[in-house]
Amino acid sequence: MPGTLDPSAPLSVAIVGSGLGGLSAAISLRRAGHNVTLYERYDFGGEVGASLSVASNGSRFLEEWDIDIPAAKPVILKNLIRHDWKTGEVFGTYPLGDYRARFGTDYNNFHRIDLHNHLKQVAMSESGKGKPAELKTWHKAVAVEFETGHIKFENGNEATHDLIICADGIRSVMREQLGVIPQFVSSTSCCYRCIIHADKLRELGLEEFMDNEAIEFWGGFGINKIVLSPCSDNNVVSCYCFYPASKNDVKEDGWNIATTGENLVATFPDLDEKLKTLFLNADDIKMWRLYNHEPYPYWVTGRCALLGDAAHPMMPDQSQGACMAIEDAGALGIIFSEKYSDLDIEQRLKLYEMERKPRATRLQESSKRAREDLDERIGWSSKKDRPGKLTIEEVCGYDMHAHIAELVGDLKGQRL
Ligand SMILES: Cc1cc2nc3c(=O)[nH]c(=O)nc-3n(C[C@H](O)[C@H](O)[C@H](O)COP(=O)(O)OP(=O)(O)OC[C@H]3O[C@@H](n4cnc5c(N)ncnc54)[C@H](O)[C@@H]3O)c2cc1C
Repeated sequence: MPGTLDPSAPLSVAIVGSGLGGLSAAISLRRAGHNVTLYERYDFGGEVGASLSVASNGSRFLEEWDIDIPAAKPVILKNLIRHDWKTGEVFGTYPLGDYRARFGTDYNNFHRIDLHNHLKQVAMSESGKGKPAELKTWHKAVAVEFETGHIKFENGNEATHDLIICADGIRSVMREQLGVIPQFVSSTSCCYRCIIHADKLRELGLEEFMDNEAIEFWGGFGINKIVLSPCSDNNVVSCYCFYPASKNDVKEDGWNIATTGENLVATFPDLDEKLKTLFLNADDIKMWRLYNHEPYPYWVTGRCALLGDAAHPMMPDQSQGACMAIEDAGALGIIFSEKYSDLDIEQRLKLYEMERKPRATRLQESSKRAREDLDERIGWSSKKDRPGKLTIEEVCGYDMHAHIAELVGDLKGQRL
């Protein structure tokens, strides 16, 4: 039973999956004094690259974990900008200028691979708080006994741990092992992504897209939307281009389906000509099938807990999927710290679900609404125009330490 271990002793923790969520959890749990082993099915050859914005609710934990953020080469965002779909004319700017003063950190825009490489290095580094996490690649988990903590891998290896964090992504195998059967449907939207290097943009006379230090939007009212932003120390500009799935009816699963700039341009015939020029000169053009998952009934069973996309896959339209995974990791680090060592594993996991599930579900739901309504996107959203809307204050100003302390009080009050 999970409750029989000495709660103050370091735990042996398995993290299944080394994406941004799994690596963040490895960092937070090693810092909390635990012995962490990461199990990853591949060796990262398939990591895909495009921009990833990490708002203060994620960046706060990166700072708390002493991550050298500049080493992951972010662009610090200063504005959100809206453009007219056809002419490209700017018709709205949300200045983020006072963001650090309001929310305590910068709004960092990373290249996904830069952030992934950096978190991996930090998780496994000899320096820093706690013991380095051990990473075992080519370890695809295929089965778990959630009460005993016993995991089986496709390569024939087996392992037993006190605590298992299932961070194996949207297609999680571990989730089904915990009895959670996802209810999901294909979205009516698909997404292209592409990148273009700074030199090429300069050559094309399009350097304004680097200089704005902004996330820039075209469309967003209805399915079509272009989201452009600079990353990787301003050396790369990345675009996400959402379009109706019916246009080419992508059947293949995944986010790595190759296509051409010509196909991309043909999808948006009446779009701003500058973007069409960019697309025709872009690299790494891929298609992404999107899915809508209903919130899952529970995230925790026995010694196991879901984290990141395995727990709460969401539409990308709030730019919050990775931030939620980092928050999950932050919650584990707080809950499994010395401060709460009077709680046993079962109570701590219960607390984790109480803390994380309502907030991540709210983000999941608002991301779905934001898919076809840019006014739901934090920064553009405001409680005034629709009560109950998610706002930038709620997302970016969140104090998880205080919330967990409150929940612990409630838990103890219930004598659980
Ligand atoms: C178009 C788009 C744009 C986005 N932009 C943003 C953004 O700007 N900001 C933001 O915060 N989020 C963004 N997101 C969301 C974000 O990318 C994801 O939420 C985040 O990467 C999820 O991380 P994860 O670690 O949970 O899952 P993943 O990154 O999927 O990692 C799962 C890991 O588990 C491994 N694995 C899988 N199965 C097994 C197994 N059985 N055994 C062992 N290992 C296994 C995989 O190989 C992988 O390494 C975006 C998403 C999309 C689709």
